[in-house]
Amino acid sequence: MKHIARKRFGQHFLVDGSIIEGIVNGIAPEADDQMVEIGPGLGAITNPLLARLKHLTVVELDRDLVSRLRTNPQLTVIDQDVLRVDFRTLASSGLRIVGNLPYNISTPILFHLLDAVDVVKDQHFMLQKEVIDRMVAAPATSAYGRLSVMLQWRYDMENFLHVPPTSFDPPPRVDSAMVRMVPKANPPAVSFARFSEMVQVAFSQRRKLLRHTLGVWLANQGYSGDFDLRRRAEEVAVDEYLALHQALPPGTRSPPSDMG
Ligand code: SAM
Repeated sequence: MKHIARKRFGQHFLVDGSIIEGIVNGIAPEADDQMVEIGPGLGAITNPLLARLKHLTVVELDRDLVSRLRTNPQLTVIDQDVLRVDFRTLASSGLRIVGNLPYNISTPILFHLLDAVDVVKDQHFMLQKEVIDRMVAAPATSAYGRLSVMLQWRYDMENFLHVPPTSFDPPPRVDSAMVRMVPKANPPAVSFARFSEMVQVAFSQRRKLLRHTLGVWLANQGYSGDFDLRRRAEEVAVDEYLALHQALPPGTRSPPSDMG
């Protein structure tokens, strides 16, 4: 029976054979990989991946699609909202995560996966091109923001394939692209909650000088160093945010996490 794409699940199915080949070649699956696909849908990427893998775990929310997927013995199907899946339970290391993500929840998915980053080997995702532009943006550009800093401190990232709307059925209204995300091998030790709060405050009013936003927050944290606050948030490089975080006096408000 033909599946009617459901808007609420962000369903845009890939139908372009050469793009699908480009995605799978970019992922370069090996038979024994521990791979999870988010949102397999009708299997556009799933099937060519399965041609190269012994086994694949998939996470799909749409019940109709889940019952189709369950007929394939090579698949383990998790019928849950991806934001409720604890990826740490899927592997103790070496996890490869892939997917043409539902665009309406793509940023929450990226932040959710940060919780499991230390068991991940790499991630390959289809996203709105505009979101990938923000992920990989350099300082002092209009795309550089909270998403850039919160991902770049932990992953090396590259946009490896442009995908036009015509590659999907139904076509989305925006251009898409594929991003490769590889966790950094020796990340700095970071209190994730405190770093996240600091970056959020810095970018809360990106047109203002940092002394009006981050300056107030730093004073509340008891910081009295010489960080230059006569700049805008977008002028500060990721390494500078990290160095500032490391220079904060011991915190009482945000408990340390094991994100590093
Ligand atoms: N991989 C397929 C393809 O490329 O043709 C489908 C991609 S489609 C953009 C997104 C997929 O994610 C759909 O299959 C949709 O049902 C699924 N999905 C949407 N929200 C989800 C959620 N919260 N958890 C898990 N899967 C979800």
